[in-house]
Amino acid sequence: MRICGICKVEQAINPHLTFHSLPKNSDIRKQWLEIMKKKDSIKTAFVCNQHFKPEDYRDFCDRPILKNTAVPRLNIEDELNTCVESIEHDSMEVM
Ligand SMILES: [Zn+2]
Repeated sequence: MRICGICKVEQAINPHLTFHSLPKNSDIRKQWLEIMKKKDSIKTAFVCNQHFKPEDYRDFCDRPILKNTAVPRLNIEDELNTCVESIEHDSMEVM
């Protein structure tokens, strides 16, 4: 099951969202992990598309594909409440 490492939404109950796994580039991956406040050793994590701008994507053909340099910047911290409020499901049970 995929859960966003930032806003904690689950893919199963938000099928309209796209979940992106950690980038291969170690520098970019480190930035993702800092935003998610995760340890560097974590192997798999996902971030939903609510944290990326349209210009962070390089392709929308079959599915949204992020640029190699894309870092989640939307709905982080201060704006997190806005993000959570937009989702009707109560995700308190997660973690
Ligand atoms: Zn999210």
